[in-house]
Amino acid sequence: MATTTLPQAEAQKRQPETKFVYFFGGGKADGNGKMKDELGGKGAGLAEMTNAELPVPPGFTIQTEACREYMRHGGLSEAVGQQMEEALKHLEELQGQKLGKGENPLLVSVRSGAKFSMPGMMDTILNLGLNDQSVEALAKLSKNPRFAYDSYRRLIQMFGSVVLEIPKSVFEEVFDAKKKQKKAKLDTDLDAKALKEVIEGYKKVVKKHTKHDFPQDPHAQLVMARDAVFRSWLNDRAKHYRRINNISDDLGTAVNVQAMVFGNLGDTSGTGVGFTRNPATGVKEFYGEFLMNAQGEDVVAGIRTPVPILQLQKIMPDVYDQLREITTRLEKHYRDMQDFEFTIQDGKLYMLQTRNGKRTGLAAVNVAIQMVEEGLITKEEAIFRVEPNQLYDFLVPRLDEKSVKVEVLATGLPASPGAAVGQIVFTADEAVEKAGHGDKRVPVILVRAETTPEDIHGMEVAAGILTSRGGMTSHAAVVTRGMGKCCVAGAGDIDVNEKAREMRVKGQVFKAGDWISLDGTTGRVIKGKLNTLPPKADDADLLKFMAWAEPFRKIGVRANADIPRDAVQARAFGAEGIGLCRTEHMFFGEKKLPHMRAMIMARDEKERRAALKKLLPLQRADFDGVFRAMNGFPVTIRTLDPPLHEFLPRREDLMVEIAVLEATKPKSPKLKGLRIILRRVEELHEFNPMLGHRGCRLGITYPEITEMQVRAIFEAAVAVAKDGVKVYPEVMIPLTATLKEMANQAAIVHRVAQEVFKEKGKTVEYLVGTMIELPRAALVADEIAKEAQFFSFGTNDLTQTTFGFSRDDVNKILPTYLAEGILKQDPFAVLDQEGVGQLVRMATERGRKTRPKLKVGICGEHGGEPSSVEFCHRIGLDYVSCSPFRVLTARLAAAQAAASDKMKGEAGRTK
Ligand code: PEP
Ligand code: MG
Repeated sequence: MATTTLPQAEAQKRQPETKFVYFFGGGKADGNGKMKDELGGKGAGLAEMTNAELPVPPGFTIQTEACREYMRHGGLSEAVGQQMEEALKHLEELQGQKLGKGENPLLVSVRSGAKFSMPGMMDTILNLGLNDQSVEALAKLSKNPRFAYDSYRRLIQMFGSVVLEIPKSVFEEVFDAKKKQKKAKLDTDLDAKALKEVIEGYKKVVKKHTKHDFPQDPHAQLVMARDAVFRSWLNDRAKHYRRINNISDDLGTAVNVQAMVFGNLGDTSGTGVGFTRNPATGVKEFYGEFLMNAQGEDVVAGIRTPVPILQLQKIMPDVYDQLREITTRLEKHYRDMQDFEFTIQDGKLYMLQTRNGKRTGLAAVNVAIQMVEEGLITKEEAIFRVEPNQLYDFLVPRLDEKSVKVEVLATGLPASPGAAVGQIVFTADEAVEKAGHGDKRVPVILVRAETTPEDIHGMEVAAGILTSRGGMTSHAAVVTRGMGKCCVAGAGDIDVNEKAREMRVKGQVFKAGDWISLDGTTGRVIKGKLNTLPPKADDADLLKFMAWAEPFRKIGVRANADIPRDAVQARAFGAEGIGLCRTEHMFFGEKKLPHMRAMIMARDEKERRAALKKLLPLQRADFDGVFRAMNGFPVTIRTLDPPLHEFLPRREDLMVEIAVLEATKPKSPKLKGLRIILRRVEELHEFNPMLGHRGCRLGITYPEITEMQVRAIFEAAVAVAKDGVKVYPEVMIPLTATLKEMANQAAIVHRVAQEVFKEKGKTVEYLVGTMIELPRAALVADEIAKEAQFFSFGTNDLTQTTFGFSRDDVNKILPTYLAEGILKQDPFAVLDQEGVGQLVRMATERGRKTRPKLKVGICGEHGGEPSSVEFCHRIGLDYVSCSPFRVLTARLAAAQAAASDKMKGEAGRTK
């Protein structure tokens, strides 16, 4: 086929040039609030606020496409550079200033801002444009040389670490040495002269590390800073944050360049952050904190503990009223709770940012309900205002304070609710070491003066976080609320010494490894190891909210529960039946294990049957309880799955016990028995137990096991039915790969069921189905469906066998795979829709070809994970089944999936 090629210039002419740079200022903006994809959350907010004629310092946003271009090519095209220079010129004209030049130099901030907020994960540079000349101009203009030199040294420090990649500690050493030399306690004790000396020291650091001087050309500073902020999209912290928050790596960040306003010009200047409602509880109150004579980083980094925003009313009543008026307007405009940043420069208020505020699950539900009642949003929109995983907050534990002596060591801010009990650790690495992996995991409380984005890996594994500095909007507070993790912040009475690995409070010293308890709902730090109480899931707001969401839901939600107590709990959370009852968990009980072992040790079928007979009544009693708890709902009971050796003692333990007895009591009568058990353990030993003698293979080689279990199920079913309980047993055969396996086990189920019905003179409805846990089963699902009356996807095993990853050993590989981006998420937690999901979809289609009404569900861990639930809804499964504590999450995820089908798109969803 012939193709025509246009001359290059022609081609370029025809392609409209991408608009990379969006200006905002002077009452109007090129962009608007809907353009989060291009401008990021911050850029879109700035554009929207400018258009609404709010006092926003002017500037421009370089859109996310430039970041993607940077990622693709390792640099930016000329078009970006040109458009940026034009926007800068426009900004200079508007301000009547020149970047870093003249008597009144323009200074700018350069900040990241992605579509979804990633607090503190990427980089920011403030005071850009300062150099050896402009700093003098700023000193004169502000009549505050100390302020000017402090701004310059902050720029060199930020630029040095972010752009030039010089370790922060090197600058800190210079600064601390100067403080020591001047006998200064606080940073603010250094005067202008001392700060000038610090600047000289910093410049030497830059020269030593980069072989170049600190760049004096403001335009060069800007280009370098812009590129560094784009690069910060790919730093480890940001990648990690995106992974845990399920944000795509491909989005890229925008860069916002904005005229600087200064909150640290003196006593009529200040800076703060706030929320239009309380982010912890959702209560409608003006909420936030500020610091006079400070820059934004001082508030967010938690270096100084800020004051409640209500006090601004006393200090600057006009500014306070204006702020209230503006933020109320913003909330109405965005129809959601706002999280805002402001700066007051010489008594004049500037808005720096507004966005939908992050909040706890309790607050999310509360705010959603209030906003419906206030007529701001509809009920349909309200159900998207809560992330399904946030409902977990209603299920977080509380401290059990009854009948124990509670010694409150300190009270900090209730930054994130719930309770946490654990051993103290002082570093994120130590947290990971103790709580992250290994058999001997202990719960830990990460105790820091303040947390920084570098602590994220430790925060993730810790049971709770305690900081001695910082407010409700400090890094620790914001991040833990997002994680749904208990946090007490700014407990100022505690003196944390991370180097000495100790904290001092009330004259007591606590070391790493000591136990403390946190109450994130009241902010109390308590000495020792308290017990925790299960939370109440019957909160009135929660019930109201769920009642709005539920009518949308199409897919059923069941629970995985093995014992009557869990079944009762599952019903309380709204489970509509049991999707997986793992019967082997019933065999591990103290009463049953000896009989189970006798069954395994049996030398022939007769002995085996005798042992099984003893197990029968015990298992029947368990089923009885589960059926009663699920009165009126189906109960899926899986026949025995794990390999038999799991019920015997460990080979190594037996060998040690035998060796010790042989050496100490060689005549012990116990020895013979132990040797027999060891021999049996060795006979049963497998190299790959996960691919071994388990699942239906057990029931096929020992049919009497299936017979006993089926008898227990139906004897219990008939008995409870006679008491008027509505019972719907579904017998599920695990790990089938072929039709004949299924037929073999189904024949046993039908035969024994009929025997029991005849013996007891009563029949109950039941189904026999299978788990689809092997790729082969998915491939021949149409065949298997000839015998199976339902399918349930065991996506734990299906993920294991599709990837060929051992579910027990994958953690050796996974961290590297995630860090390298080879896998985006842990496929055992989030269903791999591309691969494993394809098998699920295909098996469902094939199964339903044979049996159009085939009931299909999922019972792997994925059944309670929101994106996987959404997938199951999309491909037409009948139900998902998950652990009782995820039932609420699954119900909301399923309702949202169906509602967004209805609403076409995800209008109103906040991230
Ligand atoms: C599964 O494999 O997904 C499943 C639910 O079974 P188990 O986890 O018991 O192997
Ligand atoms: Mg399985």
